[in-house]
Amino acid sequence: MKTMADEIDLTALAGVLPDTVIVVDTDVCLHYVNPAGAQMFGWQPDEWLGRSILDLIHPDDVASVVSSTGTIQSKRIGTPVEVRVRVADGTWKLVEFVGYNALDVPGIHGLVVIARDLTRRRMWEVAGSDTVRFQQMVQHASSVTLLLDRSGKVTSVNAAFTRLLGHDVSHVVGRPLASFCSVDDVNNLEFAIEKAGSESRLVSCEASMRPLNTALPSLPMRFEIVNLLDDPVVQGLVVTAYDVSDLYHARQTLEHLARHDALTGLVNRSVLLDELERALAEHRPVAIAFIDLDRFKPVNDLLGHESGDELLRKASERLLGLVRPGDLVARVGGDEFVVLANDMVDRATGQALCDRIDSSLSMPYLLTEGPVRVTASVGLALSDTDATVTGLLADADLAMYEAKAARRGEPERPVTQRQRNANERRRLADDLAAGLQRGELVAFLQPIVSLELGATTGLEALVRWNHPERGLLSPAAFLDLAEDSGLDLMMGDVVLRSACAVLQQVDPAISLSLNLSVAQLADRGLCNRVSNILREFRIDPERLIVEITEHATLTRRPGGGRVSPEHTLEELRNLGASLCLDDFGTGYSSLTHIRRYPLTAIKIDRSFVAGVCDHPEDRAVIAAMVGMAGALELEVVAEGVETEEQLAAMRTIGCNKVQGYLIARPLPPSEVPGWLRAHGRDWHASEQTSTSD
Ligand code: C2E
Ligand code: MG
Ligand code: MG
Repeated sequence: MKTMADEIDLTALAGVLPDTVIVVDTDVCLHYVNPAGAQMFGWQPDEWLGRSILDLIHPDDVASVVSSTGTIQSKRIGTPVEVRVRVADGTWKLVEFVGYNALDVPGIHGLVVIARDLTRRRMWEVAGSDTVRFQQMVQHASSVTLLLDRSGKVTSVNAAFTRLLGHDVSHVVGRPLASFCSVDDVNNLEFAIEKAGSESRLVSCEASMRPLNTALPSLPMRFEIVNLLDDPVVQGLVVTAYDVSDLYHARQTLEHLARHDALTGLVNRSVLLDELERALAEHRPVAIAFIDLDRFKPVNDLLGHESGDELLRKASERLLGLVRPGDLVARVGGDEFVVLANDMVDRATGQALCDRIDSSLSMPYLLTEGPVRVTASVGLALSDTDATVTGLLADADLAMYEAKAARRGEPERPVTQRQRNANERRRLADDLAAGLQRGELVAFLQPIVSLELGATTGLEALVRWNHPERGLLSPAAFLDLAEDSGLDLMMGDVVLRSACAVLQQVDPAISLSLNLSVAQLADRGLCNRVSNILREFRIDPERLIVEITEHATLTRRPGGGRVSPEHTLEELRNLGASLCLDDFGTGYSSLTHIRRYPLTAIKIDRSFVAGVCDHPEDRAVIAAMVGMAGALELEVVAEGVETEEQLAAMRTIGCNKVQGYLIARPLPPSEVPGWLRAHGRDWHASEQTSTSD
């Protein structure tokens, strides 16, 4: 009798089984898949038949399939394996495979594999155990966690994200993550997401996220993206993100430091070069103003580095105040600055800028230590079609040195001969040192007369350089050089000796006025050397009048083995010398300044004397100075008296002593005794025979 079992059509049975039944050969090529299998994988029969099942398995799971296949061939039933299988829509399913060896079963002759979709079950399993706790953890973790789909849209997000940026969860889910970052970073983030979607390793990137409250600054965040698109349970890109504001700011600070000068906050040379290069590449017309502060070194040396720093900061502020928005001010050296002015085509505008810079930087600076005045030399260069970065800067630099030379009254030399670098300055300094050795530097002497007595009471020593090629040079041509190169100390000694040699031969009642620079005053050994020279020439120190400028009377802090000018002045006073404040009225002498020093005289600057007849203000200022000096029991000397009218005015105002071309020009040493014999006792009595300067 036929049983029901005999009538069952096994093919039909396989057709209705809810589980997937697959038959493969020993090469794991597919020969049969039942309808449940075709449905589970979404395959069309012609898509699968004859293909190796390994093509459909996740690469990471291939090894376990291969080893399981090996087992089935030797045993009969293989161990179940869990593998990921690619289905028609491109996603992965978690599938359990159990193999059965039916190679010798008639009608089959293959390996039968029963496959079961575990995806859903695993989700439930996970959900039933750890997932809830895990989800809670993720939800409340401090770092931002998001899940994205392949296209970068947010599918879930934790509270950290909404807390940080203020966006509502409902607002975030369904939108591309990149839509929440700053415009500049959109590409960056999108690229990282795309890359993570196609790679199995971790991809990271940084992007600034925009908070909901647009008044708040955007937040720099680091994103780490792990591709779990293939994970049947997660099926997405897992993004962890951190707030990296601190790191970002630290990095910004470092970057700022690399591009800016720490002292002044101005950009540095490298930024200048970059900007200039860009401007030239874009054929934008630019002007370069190269600025060098003159006489900055003494401020640093004598007032201390803090004052030097203070001055540089103030100078920077002034420069920033002079340029237009978009122009660049860079500090390119100790006391060197460069202004890069955009859209500047004509030289006149550029020159106007340079003049503004010059006059602004030359205004007095009120530093903590006292008022200071420096000047600036500014050189201009304009770009043209074939300008280069180095060429343009070199041109501006050259122009700056020309300006500096002009300021010092150095004679103009053809451009080819003019060299502006340190070598040139070193050569000039060598020249000066050699000149000092060869006795080319001497003191010319200019008489100072008393109006009351009508007689010469003193001689002022004024240095001259009898240059073998350039002729007779005035201090303006080499004084800065001497100070910068430290030769001023030696020069001071030479001047004093040269003057003393003359003084020996004249009336012992005649005093010697000696100019001392700030650097000389800071020299610890100055007083000793002066004293030795005076002794050598048997000159009474009481005959010495030391002339200092107001610049030198500022409070200074000793440093670097130097002493304060006050200290030296005190020593000189103790030696018997008296002090005269030179160029009075051009600096910042307040009464306090004057009172602080043991002065015996002030010398009214010749700029006031020049205006005494034509400018009532000058006359008023001189009258005030004379009045003040009288109250302080100081003697007043007027310098630069050139005309009889000026002399008469000074006499009326009550100024007792005068000096100037009207009486005599500075005289070469050899002419002094003769001049004194002729005019010393009554200079006004005889005709003037002015000697060339
Ligand atoms: P100073 O001490 O104020 O010297 C007066 C300057 O005025 C001198 O210029 C002198 O030649 C000039 N002068 C005198 N009378 C007249 C006049 O009637 N009209 C005009 N226009 N000028 C007159 P000089 O010799 O060129 O010296 C310039 C400055 O150089 C001096 O100004 C002084 O500060 C400095 N100096 C001169 N010799 C020395 C020196 O041996 N050592 C130091 N450290 N500085 C010196
Ligand atoms: Mg003087
Ligand atoms: Mg003077």
